[in-house]
Amino acid sequence: MPPVKLPAKHARDMMVRIQNSDGQYLARDPKAWSFSEDYTKAMVLDFSDDQIAEQLRVIAKASGLALQAVPVDPREVHESCDRCGRVEAASEVFFDGRVFLCGRCRKRAPHRSARR
Ligand SMILES: [Zn+2]
Repeated sequence: MPPVKLPAKHARDMMVRIQNSDGQYLARDPKAWSFSEDYTKAMVLDFSDDQIAEQLRVIAKASGLALQAVPVDPREVHESCDRCGRVEAASEVFFDGRVFLCGRCRKRAPHRSARR
């Protein structure tokens, strides 16, 4: 059995933290790999976009580190709207590639294709 346990279903649009076998989370440290027991310092990744499953498989093979992706409750993840500053659950906030918009601002945002 491979050491990396990953949920195969519901992988789309799922936010995850990466946990090692000691229960520590991969921390948001751009300089080096580090692990923290404080989940608020954990890096939160998009399971589908960042190809986490594949990366964990490679890490497990190369280093023997048994890491697993732990789903994050979507209600825990919050983003602030770049236009009005409202903080909403990440699942409610829309990212258009440049800015985060809450549901309200997204509706107000002009359609680019609408120009004449
Ligand atoms: Zn807004």
